Amino acid sequence: MFLQLLLCLGSSVSFRPVPHHRRAVARAIMRGCGRGGSGPIALGSLDDALKALHSKSQARADQEARLRKSVEGADETEADAVAPSCAPTVYLVGVGPGDVELLTVKALRLMQEADLVLYDRLITPEILALVGAQAAMLYVGKEAGLHTRPQDEIHELLLSFATTGKTVVRLKGGDPTVFGRGGEEMEYLERQGVDVRVVPGITAASGIAAALGVPLTHRDHADSVRFITGHARSENTAPVGERYAWEQLADPKMTLVIYMGLSTLPELAKGLTDAGLPGTTPSLAVQDGTTATQRVVCATLETLADAVQSAQLRSPTLIVIGQVVSLYDPARANAVVAAAASAPAVNADAVLGMLRSAGGWRVESQRRLTAD
Ligand code: SAH
Repeated sequence: MFLQLLLCLGSSVSFRPVPHHRRAVARAIMRGCGRGGSGPIALGSLDDALKALHSKSQARADQEARLRKSVEGADETEADAVAPSCAPTVYLVGVGPGDVELLTVKALRLMQEADLVLYDRLITPEILALVGAQAAMLYVGKEAGLHTRPQDEIHELLLSFATTGKTVVRLKGGDPTVFGRGGEEMEYLERQGVDVRVVPGITAASGIAAALGVPLTHRDHADSVRFITGHARSENTAPVGERYAWEQLADPKMTLVIYMGLSTLPELAKGLTDAGLPGTTPSLAVQDGTTATQRVVCATLETLADAVQSAQLRSPTLIVIGQVVSLYDPARANAVVAAAASAPAVNADAVLGMLRSAGGWRVESQRRLTAD
């Protein structure tokens, strides 16, 4: 992998790696490093890059100096070590778009430690498998058009569970604060005196697009990216047709990502084309992104709605519209599905054990130990 990285780097900086270079690179890596230190290097030469290779411990020390420029005299450890809070706590945890390996380590740890886990519709069975055996589980998901539990009821449940002193984890697909009502849960709980810790997750837009080789802000194609919801109805939002300033959305140098846009796609596409976005704009719809059941429909803005309908895509589907979609590579989509289908189950104990023994586990778990 590292070798590939170096070789890619090589080709982009105008030397052509020949077999001799490949051997030199391999030798340098195998030899172990420890010369140099990771100061800036002239990337024009492979030799310079090889001389600058350094060990992991050197890299850690260098980054410590570069990134942790502490105020002189301040004791960082003490500053970090917040006293354990006595307030009831709820963890609002994002689990990413579906691929188990896109979970954060923090999400994994909290899932393992939880006494009570509230989960919703987007959480895959593979991710749920990583919850600790002691946890009691509660489904609080919503189906389109069928609200299993009103949001108010979820708020109250979270509050009651939190006050038992148990470790309550609310799992949410993607990032908990992107179109997931995590913000509302946070506000409600904090008003009731509950301490809410939010664990960010990889949101569907970035996780899915990146895995398909669609860089959301490739600078040749897009200056910005905008996430919008196509959700048909909501207490707080206007109907799709009236919700947006279409002329702002119809910017050919912007990537538009639509969450929950399956049922309103024809309206959304019409709003955009009426506002002047070319009907030929490359567009994608992705169902079950990053998982073994992923399906991708690639079309243009004016043909996407029909293509999605004939493919009978269902929720969850993410829509990406913009010139960056011209970089979409179907081979990557196939690779995502193949990798997800053959991925071995993640062994949470092994992953967490590895981190503990690497000493990479710092403040939070120590805090918990003190609190317990
Ligand atoms: N909080 C989530 C979004 C919740 S809204 C996040 O940050 O990703 C739910 C919508 O997200 C779905 O209707 C769909 O548009 C999108 N979505 C989430 N996961 C997805 C997936 N694996 N594949 C396709 N779309 C997904």
